[in-house]
Amino acid sequence: MSQQKTAAIPMVDLTAQYPLIRADIEAGLQAALSEARFILGPNVQALEAEIAAYLGVEHCVSVASGTDALHLALRAAGVGEGDEVITTPFSFISTAEAICYVGARPVFVDIDPRTFNVDPAAVEAAITPATRAIMPVHLFGQPANIPALRDIAGRHDLILIEDCAQSFGAAVDGRMTGSLGHAGAFSFFPSKNLGGYGDGGLISTDDDRLAAEAKTLRNHGSRQRYYHDVVGYNSRLDELQAVILRAKLPHIDDFNEHRRSVARRYTEALQGVAGLTTPHEDGVGRHVYHQYTLLCEDEAHRDRLMAELAADNIASAVYYPVPLHQQAAFSDLHDGSAVPALPVAEDTAKRCLSLPIYPELALTDVDRIAAVLRR
Ligand SMILES: *Cc1c(COP(=O)(O)O)cnc(C)c1O
Repeated sequence: MSQQKTAAIPMVDLTAQYPLIRADIEAGLQAALSEARFILGPNVQALEAEIAAYLGVEHCVSVASGTDALHLALRAAGVGEGDEVITTPFSFISTAEAICYVGARPVFVDIDPRTFNVDPAAVEAAITPATRAIMPVHLFGQPANIPALRDIAGRHDLILIEDCAQSFGAAVDGRMTGSLGHAGAFSFFPSKNLGGYGDGGLISTDDDRLAAEAKTLRNHGSRQRYYHDVVGYNSRLDELQAVILRAKLPHIDDFNEHRRSVARRYTEALQGVAGLTTPHEDGVGRHVYHQYTLLCEDEAHRDRLMAELAADNIASAVYYPVPLHQQAAFSDLHDGSAVPALPVAEDTAKRCLSLPIYPELALTDVDRIAAVLRR
């Protein structure tokens, strides 16, 4: 190992992006501060219109977080008490939390071992008379198998809600994720492909009624001030976050294109390394690499690689170490009976390893990371 101290490479570096967008953000913030329309103000309205145009949908309804976007989309779609929602066990917990919030029951089914996305055959096999919706996640930025899932939803008359928290800008046959089901839910958490400088989220839909319902729900169940039709929530996107997101939106395709270049470079550099499986693009859609995630041989191999990377000042992370069906938070779903086995998700959780990826990551840094993994 070199004696020279090498610079740290984090999983994501938000400071590297700031110079590019700084002028737009500062001008936008100053204008917004002078105007002082902080709740559902002009930047929030403009951002919703701009993202609707980008996604090719009729309506965008911004909310306070990605978790709220999932929650309010489910509720606005009429999913509730007694309903089952089929989803993936290999995701961030919000996906399933949102299902619980509306009183429905998450039904976890296994994933495809190559894409880590929910397996359509397993989805179809899990359908019962209580099934009301399917909620796939476009995990790590790769679109789930939407053609198959749409077909299943159509044949069984189910609602399809896309968890797009990791897939802003990903597309299937030229159509953006978030425009492929009844509704899409996006997160603007800072590290997401389109991230703000705080929490935020957004619901996309072509359904007029669902959009109107979501707008009512995010604003205390109110369409007319101080008249409340239902018990809603306080879940609005902040005006200042909207300024920041509007400054970033014009760059999102470039950001995603660079993520794809980083991924290509990793995959080329890691070909033929014993015990490592590089990400599989199944060709269903355009992958935007929110994460670049390898499969190691086993848990011990992963621990060893993480230690090697850390010794070289390189971050790495495990998304996700515990599949959702095994989380303590959902133990009451099993009513004391054994937790159902979902072998692919469980195996993936033990072997997955995510490497640094962000739009400003230099390809020479990718080479340095790959060199540590090769040796
Ligand atoms: C980040 C994330 C969410 C939640 O978004 P927040 O904005 O943090 O609430 C939901 N689902 C997935 C798959 C995510 O990665």
